[in-house]
Amino acid sequence: MEPFTAELLSVESAQALLLDGLSPLAEHETIEITDALGRVLADPIFSPINVPNFDNSAMDGYAVRLAECAQQPLAIAGRALAGNPFAGPLPLGQAVQIMTGAPIPEGCDTVIMQEQAIVDAQGVRFTQTAKLGQNIRHTGEDVRVGQSVFDAGHRLKVKDLPLLASLGIRDISVKRRLRVAIFSTGDELVSPGTALAAGQIYDTNRFAIALMLRRLDCEVIDLGIIADDKPSLIQAFDYADQHADVVISTGGVSVGAADYTKEVLQECGDIAFWKLAMKPGKPFAFGRLSTSLFCGLPGNPVSAVVTFCQLVYPMILRLQGIGTEPFATLTATLTSAIRRQPGRSEFQRGYYSYQQGKCLVTAEKKQGSHMFSTFSHANCFICIERETGDIDAGESVIIQPFPEFLNGA
Ligand code: AMP
Ligand code: MG
Repeated sequence: MEPFTAELLSVESAQALLLDGLSPLAEHETIEITDALGRVLADPIFSPINVPNFDNSAMDGYAVRLAECAQQPLAIAGRALAGNPFAGPLPLGQAVQIMTGAPIPEGCDTVIMQEQAIVDAQGVRFTQTAKLGQNIRHTGEDVRVGQSVFDAGHRLKVKDLPLLASLGIRDISVKRRLRVAIFSTGDELVSPGTALAAGQIYDTNRFAIALMLRRLDCEVIDLGIIADDKPSLIQAFDYADQHADVVISTGGVSVGAADYTKEVLQECGDIAFWKLAMKPGKPFAFGRLSTSLFCGLPGNPVSAVVTFCQLVYPMILRLQGIGTEPFATLTATLTSAIRRQPGRSEFQRGYYSYQQGKCLVTAEKKQGSHMFSTFSHANCFICIERETGDIDAGESVIIQPFPEFLNGA
């Protein structure tokens, strides 16, 4: 059994330490809503207008004063079109032909749809009795002037931005983008597109982390693959520190002979090296360089992505000033047993689905921290607590559906 030793830091403690004393970026900038997808609001937004901004017709038909409908036919006084209102109040005993979206003429209290109207030389007659106020969209019934629409710290999504357009808002104040410098360390790494020489592997981590960061609306400064030698690492850390708010490296934070990252960081920053009670993702480094925050992720690609999700992501949200909880969880029933030793919190890749209204989850077979292939099929993390041992089929487990930055297109 894996020893449940005090020197392994719990995931919860690591998450708390990462957020400790961290305040959101203070700088703002003004941008147009067309450029605002994914950005984080610096100020709350209140509606400058009522929506609708005037009472208007929900139908093509006739605007009337309902009490006068007893004496049909009603003469047609004129037309009201969207963008071309009927001028003046409704004359006594008459109706105005009206189109969807046209302002309700003064004096009208009801709209009768065209399909219920018969028009002849005398005027308009209605085939059904109407209800007072029907087919009128009222001023402010969607959004009232002065109403709070979004809080500061809200990340703007596709579904949000059209609302701002409907309120006539073009310029908004958003937080400056977080600048994140990333690099991979390892003499064995080459970029995709190149043939592999003996002992080489493709750099997966930098690609994965850059993608996730961009989905989180960070500005990525990609410093490439850094060789396992001290001068190159020192140069990379210096550059990254000068240009970024956060520096993320992968690899080299373990105890191997070529793990120079650790040595270099011990010299140039105030960095703690953690052994996390976490599977995958045991080695992790965190601390401050001279002007930036630093996260040293493990080298194995699955560990790098899992630690990014569980540890770095909440930190990024905090720096971006987003107040919402990072993780949504569900309870699911395990379809087949998980065999494991207690000792570390585990984040297995799983696939969940609903069957007859019940949430079921299956752990992917290949859970090795070097086996990235199972990420694609998986859609959630199965979160297993540190002291939990084997879990039988049929037992309930907590799952985290993959966050959008991992699962989204
Ligand atoms: P390290 O933490 O540097 O000892 O790396 C642990 C394992 O992860 C080794 O098998 C490395 O070859 C592998 N690894 C490190 N960095 C990467 C990377 N960027 N992409 C894919 N595998 C990596
Ligand atoms: Mg390495």
